[in-house]
Amino acid sequence: MTTPRKPTRHAEVAGAGFAGLTVSIALARRGWSVRLHEQNDEVRDFGAGILLWRNAMLALEVIGVAEAIRDNGVRPQYYETNLDGVSVSAELLGYPYWAITRPKLHALLADAARAAGVEIVTGSRAVGADPAGVLIMEDGGGLEADLVIGADGAGSVVRNSLGDLAQERKKYSDGVCRVLIPRPEEFRGEQWDRVVDFWTLGPDAMRILFISTGPETIYLGMMAETSNERASRIPIDVEAWSERFPQLAPIVELAGKAEGGRHDSYQTTRVTPWSTGRAVLVGDSAHSMCPALGQGASVGIVNAVDLAHALDQYDDIGQALAEWERRERPMTDGAQSRSGYMAETRTLARGNGFTPELLETANFVSAAVSPELAALYPVPEANRSW
Ligand SMILES: Cc1cc2nc3c(=O)[nH]c(=O)nc-3n(C[C@H](O)[C@H](O)[C@H](O)COP(=O)(O)OP(=O)(O)OC[C@H]3O[C@@H](n4cnc5c(N)ncnc54)[C@H](O)[C@@H]3O)c2cc1C
Repeated sequence: MTTPRKPTRHAEVAGAGFAGLTVSIALARRGWSVRLHEQNDEVRDFGAGILLWRNAMLALEVIGVAEAIRDNGVRPQYYETNLDGVSVSAELLGYPYWAITRPKLHALLADAARAAGVEIVTGSRAVGADPAGVLIMEDGGGLEADLVIGADGAGSVVRNSLGDLAQERKKYSDGVCRVLIPRPEEFRGEQWDRVVDFWTLGPDAMRILFISTGPETIYLGMMAETSNERASRIPIDVEAWSERFPQLAPIVELAGKAEGGRHDSYQTTRVTPWSTGRAVLVGDSAHSMCPALGQGASVGIVNAVDLAHALDQYDDIGQALAEWERRERPMTDGAQSRSGYMAETRTLARGNGFTPELLETANFVSAAVSPELAALYPVPEANRSW
């Protein structure tokens, strides 16, 4: 007996960032027709790097993109913490996570979206959504769909147009400059395929997160209190940073020459619920979080893939959205709370910060992931809470 095929359902998606691309691929691979609108004239991301944790890699396995990330990224051998010039810990040995440049990750997702049949429209800006299932565009037109998805980032206009969704925002004292630099000769070789988290806490907190993202590039996340104006500048203020991290002077010199970097302040936005009628939010539009845990995109990717899975499990869209939020929200709220706590207390500076409790987000396995897939990414015993 054959199961009857579901009629093709249609989604209009606003925002071709990591979340919008991921949900579009996941839906298209499950038979939806998907149109993805990006306000910019090009589909791309800026020059920095990103860590993709086990939770994200498993979700990316489901949509067939993980292999390309493993091929194009770097698996850090371990995560070292260095406080005031002294190495205080080496952890996450053997943990399955990858570093990659944001432009590369973005290009891999965009290629996968096109291959899955997603129609990507650039220079196309949404201004809101109607819960009846209409994406409202800047030119005043309305695009009808079975499901409208706001994946338009932390400043989401789709979210802001949906009055049924309550929002709670919190700002923090820290911010971070992100740049990609060419990998100098002295940092080449596998022994530098790791994360080094350099901290100094006095007179104010500053941090340089050093992550190899490929044979040619290093990603630097340079965190400081936003009240420290010189350390919050793009281009990087070489003098202000070298003074506090003299051992990294050559690296800071290169950061000063980097183009295309940016500065962001830490903030969290909680939205309740994530959907109304036939309109739903994924990614930062639903749950932007402090980067202290390095999980914002990873959680968005997990939720995007599980959304498509839930829509496959339940014919009724309202039921699918409710079930999806029921299973993803506790993990997502937990990630937001943990990252906020880490930003306020700077727990990572002391070393050995990746406790099994902290790794609960990274170890989360969504309903879309089969046990066979999960087994491909074993978690070292030291990093398990089970
Ligand atoms: C310093 C820092 C470090 C981070 N490090 C990590 C990390 O290591 N690992 C990790 O998992 N996460 C990390 N994150 C979080 C991660 O960057 C974000 O969670 C992620 O980029 C959000 O993706 P998104 O697709 O939801 O939103 P965005 O990346 O903001 O993408 C939104 C897209 O929508 C488009 N758009 C916006 N408005 C409209 C509109 N009205 N119409 C059409 N298009 C529109 C935008 O142009 C953009 O392309 C970090 C964040 C910061 C700030």
